[in-house]
Amino acid sequence: MTTIEPWLREILRCPSCGQAFSDGQAPDGSPELWCEGCDLAYRVDGGIPVLLVDEARSRG
Ligand SMILES: [Zn+2]
Repeated sequence: MTTIEPWLREILRCPSCGQAFSDGQAPDGSPELWCEGCDLAYRVDGGIPVLLVDEARSRG
């Protein structure tokens, strides 16, 4: 599974709440960034995280 580089994940913050991310996985197995502050999950498209609240998935 290809996810983003750890150094890049370290500097990114959730556009919704400003918290850091951890590595996550979508139900279909694709990589996601999971916010540690809220329940949003951001998809990683070809190694590029899509940090758009409108595009984020709620983990419930
Ligand atoms: Zn968040």
